[in-house]
Amino acid sequence: AKSAGGNRFELADPEADARAITRHGLTTALPTALDRGEFFIEYQPLVHLGDGSVRGAEALVRWLHPQHGVLGPDRFIPLAEHTGLIVPLGRWVLEQSVRQAREWRERYGDGTAAGPLRINVNLSPCQLTHPGLVQDTVDILERAGVDPDALCLEVTESALIGADDDLLKPLRRLAEMGVDIALDDFGTGYSNLANLRRLPVSILKLDRSFTQSMQQFPADPVDLKIVEGIVSLAHSLDLAVTVEGVETGAQAEQLRILGCDTAQGWYYARPGPPERLHELALVDATG
Ligand code: C2E
Ligand code: CA
Ligand code: CA
Ligand code: CA
Repeated sequence: AKSAGGNRFELADPEADARAITRHGLTTALPTALDRGEFFIEYQPLVHLGDGSVRGAEALVRWLHPQHGVLGPDRFIPLAEHTGLIVPLGRWVLEQSVRQAREWRERYGDGTAAGPLRINVNLSPCQLTHPGLVQDTVDILERAGVDPDALCLEVTESALIGADDDLLKPLRRLAEMGVDIALDDFGTGYSNLANLRRLPVSILKLDRSFTQSMQQFPADPVDLKIVEGIVSLAHSLDLAVTVEGVETGAQAEQLRILGCDTAQGWYYARPGPPERLHELALVDATG
């Protein structure tokens, strides 16, 4: 790649070139990153829209790369899925998060009026098809002494589009045990709303794009109608609605009026270390 052509290519788009080099480097470093302890988890609070109390948190994984610094999941989750590392990495995230939930419970007892702080963990489609999912989850919960009710697994809408019974079976087993299943990024796929009945989900996570459309005041009346419709359908199917990406108080208020149950976003808190959640929940409990 030291040819004149290669150079011209670099000059044409040095950033794309740098990205390609980085991607190659990341792919090489990824398989050993777990053993080297380079991953860590940040937690972002989930807040009840009605009373503002912290109800739990979503676990979001990061990679502290020795050369590139902190990398967000969008940089390496696709690579981890491609290389198969996602299965042990996902298991590690689940284990850490469940232990964290246990620690929160030890601090607060059964905590807030709503009970113990709950933990939400993202599940990649590759983990869904991995035969060890149910047993691994059971083992992790048992080892930590955490009730399945305290765990919510988030699966994207697109991972479940057209899902057959084989794919849904492990999720059904987990749901029967009391684990909540949330449909993540809801509204970005093209799933048939009637299809929701078939899925073992108990929570819809409304995609950030809906929240963004609440930024202007007054919000687009069509967007309002759509969210209102989704919320009422969800509630009629006994599903709770969580909204992502809430950045302003106006959005929070609008989404509360529309009947959404729980919210997550920078308005409340950015993802952060677990101690941060302690502080937020404590402020909440005392004030
Ligand atoms: P997600 O599950 O939709 O997570 C929400 C993303 O929105 C997070 O990005 C979060 O930091 C960001 N966010 C939260 N509040 C706001 C806000 O108010 N405004 C804006 N603009 N963004 C907000 P993050 O941490 O970069 O994660 C990106 C995606 O990576 C996640 O999207 C999830 O799909 C995936 N991911 C993260 N951790 C894991 C994991 O442990 N396993 C798997 N399979 N995927 C993960
Ligand atoms: Ca998620
Ligand atoms: Ca439950
Ligand atoms: Ca999401």
